[in-house]
Amino acid sequence: MDISLSATDREFRDEVRAFLATHLPAEIAATFHAARRHSFDEMMRWHRILHKKGWVAPHWPVEHGGAGWSVMQQHIFDTEAMAAGAPRLRPFALRMIGPILIRFGNDWQRERFLPPMLSGEEYWCQGFSEPGAGSDLAALATRAVRDGDDYIVTGQKTWTTTGQHARWMFALVRTDPKADRPQKGISMLLIDMQSPGVRVQPIITIDGDHHVNDVFLDEVRVPACNLVGQENKGWDYAKYLLAHERVTVANVGQAKAEVALLTRLARARGCLEDPVFATQLIDLETDLSALEVTNLRMLSQLGPKGDAGALSSFLKLRGTEIQQRITELAMTVMGPEAAPWRGPGGNAGRGAEGYGTHGWLFSRAFTVFGGSSEIQKNIVAKQILGL
Ligand SMILES: Cc1cc2nc3c(=O)[nH]c(=O)nc-3n(C[C@H](O)[C@H](O)[C@H](O)COP(=O)(O)OP(=O)(O)OC[C@H]3O[C@@H](n4cnc5c(N)ncnc54)[C@H](O)[C@@H]3O)c2cc1C
Repeated sequence: MDISLSATDREFRDEVRAFLATHLPAEIAATFHAARRHSFDEMMRWHRILHKKGWVAPHWPVEHGGAGWSVMQQHIFDTEAMAAGAPRLRPFALRMIGPILIRFGNDWQRERFLPPMLSGEEYWCQGFSEPGAGSDLAALATRAVRDGDDYIVTGQKTWTTTGQHARWMFALVRTDPKADRPQKGISMLLIDMQSPGVRVQPIITIDGDHHVNDVFLDEVRVPACNLVGQENKGWDYAKYLLAHERVTVANVGQAKAEVALLTRLARARGCLEDPVFATQLIDLETDLSALEVTNLRMLSQLGPKGDAGALSSFLKLRGTEIQQRITELAMTVMGPEAAPWRGPGGNAGRGAEGYGTHGWLFSRAFTVFGGSSEIQKNIVAKQILGL
């Protein structure tokens, strides 16, 4: 596949560069270069800037407030924005439930929910996993019982990323416990996190930060108009959504920006003179280039409805392995300076350029969230290799 930029693409890239140079706040870019991560508030500030420009949802159709960009334009924007140190927007509204409502929701839901998603006024979280339902998601036990114009929802969701900031959760719930297959008794509901009976409890992860939560639902009333599509068809929508999620976690733009930072740091510290390290870095760069080409090839082959299907598992698998290798090489570059660690809430272990124990520890989660690597391998084996 030819991924060289056409004249139109180059023009677009220049427009993106000019926009980033004038609109990306310098202090936000500086955070990435110093800490390799942004705060939630910085991310939302960038979200609002992009919304003002009309670029917050590059892949949504224009009639729903998106930019309607081609796959190549999205790739160019992502690469340029990450290289400039822009925050990566969270996928829950823009990449997950937004496209689901565009495709499977009704007019009322699109009018009610899409505009505040785009403006950033209402932030969303994903309520799929439960204590007994992660890889085996179809085992989920949260119950939704119809009562007049409402569903009454009781159960527990877990690992809910940024649930502490969310106004809404899109959740999978069991509406038919007697269905002949567990997948057939599941529906998707939009739950207002401010409803009585919703309780969010932080989970502090191994890096000492508050990324994820338990969400307890105790007889929460959810209006039936918040049912997505048809009752008991939630599994179909979830599969479509998860394929979208896995494409985004390949995260090529950010990986490229991080490899550039790593290389700069390695050069400054003389690590490139070590042939073992140099070989590992070259291997990493080569694998990342291969992923970039594969990513573009796969995205450009998506069906008209943008369903990446099983191919997304391949991208998720490879992308997250590469991201973990970046943090491992970063630990080598930092040497003993990567080690300081003050535990929960501490800022240590980030070292120069933000590298260190903190990032390495959190990177362990990359091959778990969005479906573990083992599960992706099972999908690739069955659905792509036909084993
Ligand atoms: C940081 C983080 C953020 C997350 N954010 C969210 C979120 O916002 N919303 C949400 O709904 N979920 C979220 N998750 C949950 C995530 O999707 C699950 O953790 C993941 O699907 C794995 O489920 P589990 O943790 O229950 O592990 P389990 O399913 O119990 O798996 C344990 C181990 O067994 C292996 N395994 C299980 N089944 C098989 C099999 N059939 N074949 C081979 N190996 C198998 C797994 O690969 C894994 O190594 C998040 C998780 C993390 C770590």
